[in-house]
This record gives sequence, structure tokens and C-alpha cells, in this order.
Amino acid sequence: MPQVVIIGCGIVGAMIAYELSQVSSLEITVLDRQPPAQAATGAALGVLMGVISHKTKGRAWAMRQSSLQRYATLLPELEAIALKVPHNPQGIVKLCFEGEDLAGWQALQVTRQAQGWSLEIWQRDRLQSCCPQVVNSRVTGAIYSPQDAQIDPTALTLALVKASQQNGVTFHFNGEAKDFEFALNGLEQKTCQAVQTQTDRFSADWVVIAAGLGSTALTQSSPQPLEVRPVLGQALRVRLPLPLGDRTFQPVVTGEDIHIVPLENGDYWVGATVEFPTDAGEVVAESDRLQEVWQGAIALCPALADAQIMQTWSGLRPRPHNRPAPIIEPLTGYSNVLLATGHYRNGVLLAPATAQQIREMILK
Ligand SMILES: Cc1cc2nc3c(=O)[nH]c(=O)nc-3n(C[C@H](O)[C@H](O)[C@H](O)COP(=O)(O)OP(=O)(O)OC[C@H]3O[C@@H](n4cnc5c(N)ncnc54)[C@H](O)[C@@H]3O)c2cc1C
Repeated sequence: MPQVVIIGCGIVGAMIAYELSQVSSLEITVLDRQPPAQAATGAALGVLMGVISHKTKGRAWAMRQSSLQRYATLLPELEAIALKVPHNPQGIVKLCFEGEDLAGWQALQVTRQAQGWSLEIWQRDRLQSCCPQVVNSRVTGAIYSPQDAQIDPTALTLALVKASQQNGVTFHFNGEAKDFEFALNGLEQKTCQAVQTQTDRFSADWVVIAAGLGSTALTQSSPQPLEVRPVLGQALRVRLPLPLGDRTFQPVVTGEDIHIVPLENGDYWVGATVEFPTDAGEVVAESDRLQEVWQGAIALCPALADAQIMQTWSGLRPRPHNRPAPIIEPLTGYSNVLLATGHYRNGVLLAPATAQQIREMILK
């Protein structure tokens, strides 16, 4: 059986493991240096901005579309084996502000309709009746995207690990990939034969690097090593005695790059900051930046001012340096090492399409 070693068990590695586990002819091992969903995935808000994104063609739209389509089948598939993943199917309400170009949204609405998706353009009165919690004089209306959604990224990753285990995938947490053992395959190509950790050696016919920020170190033996840099995001969980607005309609509300994500019973995630590293690659969470996001959320939904802050956290998004996200391609110099990394702000959204592409590359 061809052996596939996946390095990294965030949402991307876990999704790849699960998709490949449907192929009975593969023997799959996943390595992570820590338990699953601890890095970027553990900090993510899980907002799936597909239909409402401005990407309308090419790879960017194709990936969004196939991810949304796969999510629609994946969640029932997991539920059927008793793995229920908290998610919000009530869509995304993106607020529009004074001076915003509505013509652009109308054009997107037409495009999406032609592509088989829907977007609604709400005037202020419709927004007020659907989302009375939004009270801000600069808000002129909203775009409602009923087919976009939100999902709990940690719960999803853990569910994918369980489902993959049931399908025969082996996981090694505490297994940091250190090096590749390779054979020369012609003058310029190497074939990776095994992945080495501190203590073990894992034979491989295929290696998939889904290691987020860890991908930089793992690609240094390639003539074209990757540089994946951290972009920090801070977020918070808050609690109100009752949910905001209409209890039966609790979509994600987003405005000025602040997401207000309903959870159960009046809890919300609010985030996230976008903090870039210094030239030396360092980035430290600044509490003022989190305050700005929190105050920004209160300015959109003033009732949040009464909420109790339950938790704050930060995470590092893996962003490719000087090239678009994500990177899904063979690693230069190797015949059998595939990259599935650098998903930056959209790893949860794009994980299903990434896994499909990796599956096609392995089975081609
Ligand atoms: C605050 C915040 C909010 C976000 N919100 C959203 C959102 O709403 N929607 C969305 O789509 N995305 C969002 N993102 C982005 C999303 O979190 C990332 O794009 C996604 O989690 C990347 O997943 P990943 O599996 O590639 O990386 P990671 O989750 O970082 O996982 C990489 C894994 O590789 C392991 N690893 C690294 N090196 C090695 C090695 N040498 N050996 C073994 N294991 C290794 C690490 O331990 C880690 O577990 C957000 C991110 C942040 C920080």
C-alpha cells in the first residue's frame, strides 16, 4: 500500500487525512509536534466567507465554491457517525457603511446568481428588522449571504481526527518532523523515502507538508524553500445574559473587518486583530489592538457593552511571503513531497478544497 505521511494536524492536515482515508489503498500517518488544533486552527473563528468574498473567478473562487459544496456534505457525513460539529448555518450579514460602493455589491449579486448562489442587498430598514442589535448611524444597510456559514474549527479538527482514526489513519502527536531521508532521482529531483522525527522514522511514498508556520523549516532542503510568516490575530469570547437581537436569527455579523460570531446561550466570539511581524519576523500581541476590535464591535452592536469578557487569546496565521495564499503544489526539487500550507486568513474555509486537490495529486 502506498504510504502517505502528513505533517501537521491543524484543520488542513486533518481534512487531508480524512479525505485520503476514504481511499482504501492508502496507508496514512499524521505527525504533529503537539496535540491537534493547537496552532492557528485553535485560535480561528471559523467564519466561512465564500459567497460574500469578492473572488469571482479563477482558483480563488473555484476553491471557495468547492469548499462550500464539500462542507454541505461533510457535516452530515460526520454527524452520521456521531461526530456533531457546532456550526452556524444562518449565514453572514456584512454591514455596509456610508460612502460604500453599492454598485460593486450589485454586480457581485448578479455574478453569484449566475454561479448558482444568492446574496441579498438589505436597505437600512430591512437590516434593522432582521438584526436590531446593529445600531450605528454610519451603517447604511447590509449584504446578507445565506449560504455562507461558520464552524467551530477546533471541534471540526477533532472530529476529523476521530473519523480518520475510524478509517484506519494513524496519528502521532509529539512527533516533530525533523528531516527527510531521500534518494536521488535523476540530477535535479529527490524522492523522499522517509520522514524522521527525534525518535522515529516513517517510511513514505508521499509526504504532505500541512505544517502552517512550521512549513518554512521543513522546506529548507528545497532549491525553492518557502517563507511562511506569522500574522497575529487576537480575539475574545464574551457573555450576555441573552442573545443579541432576534433569538431565532443569529447570523455572523461582520463590519469593518470585525466578526461578531454567535455561539450558544448569549456567548459570542469577537475578533480578530491583524498584526504584522517586524522585519525580523517577530510579532507580539498588543492589548490596545484587541481593545480597538472590542470597542469597534460595541460601536456596531451597543448592547455588547454589557457583556462580560470570558476569555481572550491570540494565534498566528501562516501567511506566505511574497506570494498568494494558499500554497498547494509539489515542493520544488522533490518528486513526492506536496505542500498544503500558507492559508493565512482562510484556512478553515479552504481546507476542504485543499484536501481535494491533494487527493487528486496523489491519485493522478
Ligand atoms: C485569530 C484568528 C482568526 C481566524 N479566523 C479565521 C476564520 O474565521 N476563517 C478561516 O477560514 N480562517 C481563519 N483563521 C485562519 C486559520 O486559522 C488558518 O488559516 C488555519 O488554521 C491554518 O491551518 P493549518 O492546518 O494550515 O495550520 P495550523 O493550524 O497552524 O496547524 C499546523 C500544524 O502543524 C504542526 N507542525 C508544524 N511544524 C511541524 C513539524 N515540523 N512537525 C510536526 N508538526 C508540525 C503544528 O504543531 C500545527 O499543529 C484565523 C486565524 C486566527 C489566528
